[in-house]
Amino acid sequence: MAILDEKLHDIYAEVLQRNPGETEFHQAVHEVLDSLGPVVAKHPAYTDAAVLRRLCEPERQIIFRVPWVDDMGRVQINRGFRVEFNSALGPYKGGLRFHPSVYLGIVKFLGFEQTFKNSLTGMPIGGGKGGSDFDPKGRSEGEVMRFCQAFMTELYRHIGEYTDVPAGDIGVGGREIGYLFGQYKRITNRFESGVLTGKGLAWGGSRVRTEATGYGVVFFVNEILRARGDSFEGKQVVISGSGNVAIYAIEKVEQLGGTVVACSDSGGYIVDEKGIDLELLKDVKERRRARIGSYADEPGVSAEFIETGSVWEVPCDIALPCATQNELNGRDAVALADNGATIVAEGANMPCTPEAVRVFAERGIVFAPGKAANAGGVATSALEMQQNASRDSWSFEHTEDRLAEIMRGVHDRCLETADEYGSPGDYVAGANIAGFIQVADAMLALGVI
Ligand code: NDP
Repeated sequence: MAILDEKLHDIYAEVLQRNPGETEFHQAVHEVLDSLGPVVAKHPAYTDAAVLRRLCEPERQIIFRVPWVDDMGRVQINRGFRVEFNSALGPYKGGLRFHPSVYLGIVKFLGFEQTFKNSLTGMPIGGGKGGSDFDPKGRSEGEVMRFCQAFMTELYRHIGEYTDVPAGDIGVGGREIGYLFGQYKRITNRFESGVLTGKGLAWGGSRVRTEATGYGVVFFVNEILRARGDSFEGKQVVISGSGNVAIYAIEKVEQLGGTVVACSDSGGYIVDEKGIDLELLKDVKERRRARIGSYADEPGVSAEFIETGSVWEVPCDIALPCATQNELNGRDAVALADNGATIVAEGANMPCTPEAVRVFAERGIVFAPGKAANAGGVATSALEMQQNASRDSWSFEHTEDRLAEIMRGVHDRCLETADEYGSPGDYVAGANIAGFIQVADAMLALGVI
């Protein structure tokens, strides 16, 4: 990791000491502090009011027991989390993740990142994140429903339209949001649409929310290409994951004239030189909830399924990691560079290790960090909140236009800020600084709270 300047180093040391063992949280804090040297030098008020130290401490951290009964009649116990990180700009906003790897350090890294991402969108939303170590894989519909109901039976008292508005993330899609919203409605006796986003269209959801994160990443890359007088036309793209973000990133790349030649899940990856067949992929992953290997088993499909190795060894012009944190390391980054990749944009949260990011810089690969590139999901959640508040429902075209406009704004804000602080073309510095300044100014205005 890069060496921080003295004031920032002390803040980082305090984070390490107060949050032992939370390595993903440490990594996320270090990555932001690494960009903020020129900002604290220029604006001593931030240091005087301990804005950064306050920002590194979540406003509230809730950990709770989630007991539920499986199909065999056995009692199962999971752990639930909600970390309400920062509400200087609006109600806490951020997804829920259901995955066996979830623990406090992952929820805190995600909540911390979310605060800057939400700020970058320019919308009035604070940052939070939550989830559980529950693994939905292999669970029946009934078990998933009972787990969601048990989870919401505690969570409901902490959330609300003006307090904290969760959404989906890994393992939490439309089905889970439905069960969570149903239980919230049952307990509170209120049809409070604005309490969750990612809802179904028939009961308060927004068009484009399902597609938003994947589409948004591709809109962001399209802006990078446009700034260089280029386009997606004829580009080969590799995307990791085959969940919500990956599927809709693939859809938008194909619409813009690129070819996605590989995608993956935690069991391996498929390479289809003719381009991923999106309808088949949706059938395998969304309807059948099967493993990615089944794609290659279909009659008449030319794809190859590879169980070992890394999807980043597949040659491409543009790489979009859309699965999970730290999935693309230094070695993968070297393979991408050797194969001629020119742009990497994070659809997932923190999928590239610090070493990978250093390789991108050394090898001249343009790198767009998740807090900017994947902000389309939360931005469209904010559009869903707007529609709920005004009891309105916008068309697909209008919502997609708003999303594209927001992503253009995030892109331009990153570039302008990077320029202003002496790092032209550096999207990491631009995203961290622009995201920070808006939250920091709001915190100064609101006093020491
Ligand atoms: P999904 O659960 O829909 O999909 C996750 C995908 O990633 C699956 O294909 C999964 O494969 C794969 N995956 C998970 N863990 C690993 C692993 N260790 N190695 C390889 N593949 C893995 O989640 P989303 O698409 O919603 O989220 C993906 C990423 O995008 C996350 O980092 C999330 O935080 C981020 N994100 C999501 C947003 C959203 O709106 N959904 C918004 C902004 C960011 P398998 O099924 O085998 O586990």
